[in-house]
Formats: sequence, C-alpha cells, structure tokens
Amino acid sequence: MANNPYQRRNKLGFGISLKLNHQGQLIVAAPKLIPRFILDQLVDQHQSWIDKQKKRLKKQQPMLGKNFVYLFGKRYQLRVADLHQAVGGFFIIDDELVYQPPSGLTIIKKNQLPPKLKLEKFLKNSAINYLAPRTHQLAEKMNLKFSRIVFKQQKTRWGSCSSQKNLNFNWRLVHFPPPVIDYVIIHELAHLVHLNHSARFWALVAKFDGKYKQHKKILRQAALD
Ligand SMILES: [Zn+2]
Repeated sequence: MANNPYQRRNKLGFGISLKLNHQGQLIVAAPKLIPRFILDQLVDQHQSWIDKQKKRLKKQQPMLGKNFVYLFGKRYQLRVADLHQAVGGFFIIDDELVYQPPSGLTIIKKNQLPPKLKLEKFLKNSAINYLAPRTHQLAEKMNLKFSRIVFKQQKTRWGSCSSQKNLNFNWRLVHFPPPVIDYVIIHELAHLVHLNHSARFWALVAKFDGKYKQHKKILRQAALD
C-alpha cells in the first residue's frame, strides 16, 4: 500500500485517537465514558506531535482549488468559455483548463467555474488513460503479472495490491508528475512479490525507481481537499 496521503492519526489505545483536519483543527475521538480531563491531559501530553502535524499541514500543497487544478504536475487555471467546438468538454489552452458546456445549452457567466462532477469525471478519465497503459508497461519491465486494475477515490491510500493480484489506484494521482505516479505503480507492482514493506520490498522498488524517496515525499506533502 502506498502511504496515506490525507491525515495522520495518532492512536492512543482505549479507542482514543487524535487527528488534525485540513484546517489544522484538532479532532479527538474517544468513547463517551472517558472523562474530559483525561482527554485534556492526553492532548497536553501530545502537544509536540500536534505542533508537528500543524507545521506539516501548513507546508502542504493543495492539488485542487476553487479555480485551479494540478494535472500531471502542472498547475492550470479553471475557466468556462464557449470555444466554438462541436462537442463540449475540457480543453487545455496554455496554462488554462477550459470547460466548454455542450453548445447552445448554457449562457456563460463571468467567473463561472466548471461543474464539479464534470471536472471529476475528466480527471478520472485522464488518470485512467495514463495509469492503465503505464501499469502494463511497467509490469512488463518488472517481469510481473497482475489480474486487473481498479480505480477508486480512496480516502486513505494512493494504491493497493490484493492477494488476488488486483491493483487499485486512486484516480487523484492524476494531479502528480508522471514520475511520481510511476512510483505508486512500481510500489504496488512490487507488492506482487513482497506483500509487506520489508527491506527486500524497498530494494525492488529502488531497482525501478531510483528516486522513490523523493517521490514518496511529494505525495506526503500534497493536500487533496
Ligand atoms: Zn505498500
């Protein structure tokens, strides 16, 4: 499994855990019967962990904002315009990702943004178009065989590999430069050989991605929502 991109959680036992949301607010989850003063004490004890997480969140780079999106590592402004194309859809024009509604259907307002669902569909398709053939290529290079590929928007993983040799990828990998996406593919393919994160597993990853540590770090620094 490629590492959790979203939030770090600190599990303290007894069903108590601490985490920070994307606004940097601390969320304490605990069974009802645990008294408040115990939780306050725990928060005090973990202040240095909390500060570290806050610092990490500040450094995080959002991949998708209200009016921009990262696509294969490049930042594009989002815009809606009538480009006089026969069919509507998304078009890359310089550093803009322009959405043209199906022609004749909509009046375009100033500062209008593409519909969220349409954008997600476009991003998901772009991810599939890159990842599916690339996974086959890299599997061939690594001399490995998998059963099938599934695309999901997972809350906790960039990818995973099941014991049935099925590969799962998070379509939001589409935000990253191709070498970073390749790292996740290589990581999951390496799990076909080693179903763990042992030294031998990492040695196999390193054989096909010499910069995997750098790529891991880029994934960790990204904020997805
Ligand atoms: Zn893994």
